[in-house]
Amino acid sequence: MFSKVLIANRGEIALRILRACKELGIQTVAVHSSADADAMHVRLADESVCIGPPAALDSYLNIPSIMAACEITGADAVHPGYGFLSENARFARILDEHKIAFIGPSAAHIEMMGDKIEAKRTARKLGIPCVPGSAGAVNTQAEALGAAREIGFPVLVKAASGGGGRGMKVALNEGELAVAWSTARTEAKAAFGDDAVYLEKYLGKPRHIEVQVLGDGRGNAVHIGTRDCSLQRRHQKLWEEANAPSITAAERDRIGEVCAKATRDMKYSGAGTVEFLYEDGEFYFIEMNTRLQVEHPVTERITNIDIVYEQIRVAAGEKLSLVQNEIQFWGHAIEVRINAEDPVDFTPSPGTITYYHPAGGVGVRIDSGIYQGYKVPPYYDSLIGKLIVHGRNRAECLQRLRRALDEFVVDGIKTTLPLFRRLADEPDIISGDYNIHWLEAYLAGTKK
Ligand code: ADP
Repeated sequence: MFSKVLIANRGEIALRILRACKELGIQTVAVHSSADADAMHVRLADESVCIGPPAALDSYLNIPSIMAACEITGADAVHPGYGFLSENARFARILDEHKIAFIGPSAAHIEMMGDKIEAKRTARKLGIPCVPGSAGAVNTQAEALGAAREIGFPVLVKAASGGGGRGMKVALNEGELAVAWSTARTEAKAAFGDDAVYLEKYLGKPRHIEVQVLGDGRGNAVHIGTRDCSLQRRHQKLWEEANAPSITAAERDRIGEVCAKATRDMKYSGAGTVEFLYEDGEFYFIEMNTRLQVEHPVTERITNIDIVYEQIRVAAGEKLSLVQNEIQFWGHAIEVRINAEDPVDFTPSPGTITYYHPAGGVGVRIDSGIYQGYKVPPYYDSLIGKLIVHGRNRAECLQRLRRALDEFVVDGIKTTLPLFRRLADEPDIISGDYNIHWLEAYLAGTKK
């Protein structure tokens, strides 16, 4: 087992990882920008190192600074969290060259899944159902048209190196294709330095359902259930549930086993998420995330599995201790993302938290590093915490969510908490009748 883990991240996830390390008896190193000197995980870590100024490029994404912090502190492993360097194959490789463990999959697996065309090709080979689409990149307008006719309109033009929904354009018909193809390429080039795009059938009313997998790189792997993350705004998830409520246990086990088998066959090591769109009873692979996800606590809550423990153990070379037929699911869990944003127009709302009273009680978990007097810096993602509730079934879980939201107070800044309180009373949310477009329509007032 590792003796000292450096946590190359910030905010709630840095604290989440620190907690797992402490429970495993591992020393922790927090690295932080000058804007995060007062962060909770920095206070709680055994050691901390300032790795640069506020801008993420100069701190949390600054590989030489992080390597220097490893050297100074003698850390023998790095947990990258999510975002920042978590899916950076070069970083994983550099750590490997310095005999420091990267708590995540191999650089080769990160690379394979980071290129979406390659990821789809691999998924298809491994027997994972995919969205119908072009065989590879479409490099000319004529190629795009040929592929689109074969797939059938509407189609979605997507960036091969895409992420965060950027470089994605819908073409409803042949007339819209040329513009969609060229704007997607321009956007992809600007955002990712790679203008390769491909086509997929555009699904009109899918749900986003994902499967959590864990593997040990030696041919052992399990799935630990599904999550529904259909409530999104601009492709950003805001509300997640486990297990996905719209599919049966039999469907869950079937798609879960397909993903677990793929994980075994790939000899994938660590935690991963296979993401699907689900429409009319069919699953369509969209991507695999080779890291811990923001929404992992809902899975932990219904399985009693600590995903970060498992990541650390496997990265330290231990065999996966989980066996598929021993994994059980208890009740239902919902997570809502507390963002420092206006709950109506979503403008960022950094500043000082003047009063903080988190919810508590049975079935409530809060993952957050904020406290009264904490100053939310303006430089980073607006996520400041997550409220996770659990119940014996979805109805109990929703009632507990309303109760927890009524208790929760964050003053001094605006947060998304009031939005969730409204959503918890929406008939479509209560009945589970929504897809990936529902929240944007609701926010735009175009929902009946
Ligand atoms: P990114 O890596 O940019 O997040 P994804 O492939 O994961 O891209 O897709 C992000 C979101 O875009 C999905 O959650 C879904 O809302 C939407 N999306 C992706 N592919 C399709 C598709 N073929 N049809 C309809 N919506 C899609």
